[in-house]
Amino acid sequence: KSEEWLVALKVIDKIEKAGFDAVIVGGAVRDYLLNKSVNDVDVATSALPSEVKEIFSSTVDVGIDHGTVLVLDEGQPVEVTTFRTEGTYTDYRRPEEVTFVRTLQEDLERRDFTINAMAILKNGTIIDLFGGQEDIEKKVIRAVGDPNVRFREDALRMLRAIRFSAQLGFTIEEKTLKAIQIDSDLIDFIAKERITMEMAKIWKSDYVYEGLKWLVVSKLAPYLVGDFKNQLKSWKEFRSNKPEVGWAYLCLLNRKDIQHIFDFYRLSKKEKTFIRDVLNLYDALLQKWTLMDYFSNELLVLETAYDFAIWQHHSVPFSKEDIAKVKENLPIQKVDELAINGNHLINWTDKKRGPWIKVALDAALIAVLNRYVENEEEKLKEWFLNDFIDER
Ligand code: ATP
Ligand code: MG
Repeated sequence: KSEEWLVALKVIDKIEKAGFDAVIVGGAVRDYLLNKSVNDVDVATSALPSEVKEIFSSTVDVGIDHGTVLVLDEGQPVEVTTFRTEGTYTDYRRPEEVTFVRTLQEDLERRDFTINAMAILKNGTIIDLFGGQEDIEKKVIRAVGDPNVRFREDALRMLRAIRFSAQLGFTIEEKTLKAIQIDSDLIDFIAKERITMEMAKIWKSDYVYEGLKWLVVSKLAPYLVGDFKNQLKSWKEFRSNKPEVGWAYLCLLNRKDIQHIFDFYRLSKKEKTFIRDVLNLYDALLQKWTLMDYFSNELLVLETAYDFAIWQHHSVPFSKEDIAKVKENLPIQKVDELAINGNHLINWTDKKRGPWIKVALDAALIAVLNRYVENEEEKLKEWFLNDFIDER
């Protein structure tokens, strides 16, 4: 059992000694039954947040309105959440207010899918009220209770079903799928940030292609940006552990909708820069496979553009391992490391500052990368005056 798990058990022990119930719940139980590595182990308890804070000496309020207290007493932080229901739902969204309850059953009933609605006691007993273990065996995602009711309470659950299918390679149970097909338009009520978080998890999943197939079959796809229906095949080989690679691939496949993708999924400046770099490099590489010329890019950009070419079935004249090897052995990695800058160039000529400077520095970079000239001021001056100026 992981360190996190053992720490959670110690926390449970202390809560029980204070006279309350406490269990491990949700994703941790699911991942444990799947023999997957468990990252965050959540504890649920009958104790109210104020009562939890009295039991432990070191706590942080991370979501006190939602009943969550972070317990730091055992070194590793553990999230402890009071058994709760979610009260009334409006606008198909998760409610702001919650109601604390004293029984585990009520807490498990408000959870989305049977595989996510199990708890495990300190002694190892599994509390499985909705057939979660059977569904893990059968590899299905099934809503707890009436799926239409549950998706109308919180429409994001529909996309979560897709996300779990992408992560686990599970199918979506028939009634659950039907309910999504009927209510897929409700996803429009959900904050884009929550949609983006689920999509980002899909990009990092082991079964992206299968997940996107469910996205199409469930009729959710038309409410998102990206032509998933017609591009399914292009995702067959896609694989990444970085969400920005997924966003970039989505942009590659939907070139005319890039701005729409940026806006809809609220991508960050950093993600947008990465995407532009990758697509520029990809285009350049398809013109001319002399990687050397493009090595001023970061390794992730290089490798991503390379993967895209493979996933798009272009023939590539070198292996992926070559990229890292070549990059490692380059005389310099970035333009900043060049021994000269714009001021040098101006001093060496009587020309005025202008766009030619960038052209000259880019050319200098390529000359250095190709070891045509050494990265030294004097050598670069000689190259600039003799080769570069002469060529113009
Ligand atoms: P991971 O952390 O790997 O993304 P997880 O199962 O822990 O997976 P979280 O989003 O962290 O997923 O949620 C923790 C638990 O809270 C879930 O297992 C589920 O029981 C419950 N849950 C989360 N979001 C919802 C929701 N929108 N509706 C109902 N239950 C939810
Ligand atoms: Mg979690």
